[in-house]
Amino acid sequence: MRVAALAGGTGAAKLLRGLAASLDSSALSVVVNTGDDAEVWGLHVSPDLDSVMYALAGVLDAGRGWGRADEAFRCLSAMAVYGAPTWFGLGDRDLATHLVRTRALHEGRTLSAVTADLAHALGVASRILPMSDEAVRTTIRTPDGRLGFQEYFVRDKCQVEVVGVDYDGAERARPAPGVLEAIRDADLVVVCPSNPVTSVGPILAVPGVAEALGATRASVVGVSPIVGGAAVSGPAGALLRARGLPVSPLGVARAYAPWLRALLIAPEDAACAPELAALGVRAVVTDVMMPDREREAALGRAVLAAR
Ligand code: GDP
Repeated sequence: MRVAALAGGTGAAKLLRGLAASLDSSALSVVVNTGDDAEVWGLHVSPDLDSVMYALAGVLDAGRGWGRADEAFRCLSAMAVYGAPTWFGLGDRDLATHLVRTRALHEGRTLSAVTADLAHALGVASRILPMSDEAVRTTIRTPDGRLGFQEYFVRDKCQVEVVGVDYDGAERARPAPGVLEAIRDADLVVVCPSNPVTSVGPILAVPGVAEALGATRASVVGVSPIVGGAAVSGPAGALLRARGLPVSPLGVARAYAPWLRALLIAPEDAACAPELAALGVRAVVTDVMMPDREREAALGRAVLAAR
């Protein structure tokens, strides 16, 4: 069975590890958000690509949920002495990824090509595809002006009012090579439990992606990142609200209309099932929490069975 997944960072990383436990890894293609890519110390950082790559390579830090395990931050300390901004924490081993990526981009290679090289070097057999090789930048509109996504998320810890979200550059971006084909040729498309507005939203904003999701013969199955009226982590609740969507599986389903076919939701949200059905989305009530590898794998199996 060929599986294509749409992915952001932390929630997606866990589910992808769970799926990989039941799948031949070469059968999995992951289309990853690059809307929250940022330049840090002159380096091109792709947080979601790296979370997915490190998770599938088995080197993601378990405690932080981002960056590499067995990490040190000596360069970060040295940068602080020079007065460089240190609110975006880059670990020493993680820096190697950004150095290789940035040099390759400066040499004129594409983000998708260097991503494939990095993943191969780390032993990842699944395909990791940036949503686009062109820059799309998620920007948060606040009453006091616009913020880059990482300024909002990491520097300001989401403690500002959000009045809107833009995907700068999306209308001119093209899907990276392989993205539309992965969606078209899949037997199952999985929408990972990722932030619908700032992780999956940018992927859907790339022209052609939403159309491919509408046209694929694959069943499209999502996992709700919203459980019991709140995001499991991160600002998805506030961002859904800013979009005028309810903070519930219903808001998730509405963000993914009209192509979402099934949504895995938690038992405490079972009452949403009839309203989901009215949107054409079959609710699958199950444990959607992934605090450990066993439950990641169990949710992976539930997603595969929901096809
Ligand atoms: P961000 O943290 O909101 O920027 O978004 P990401 O897309 O990187 O991933 C976080 C999303 O994953 C959030 O919306 C969480 O609610 C969701 N998430 C994290 N852990 C879990 C989990 O164990 N189960 C489910 N269902 N969702 C999760």
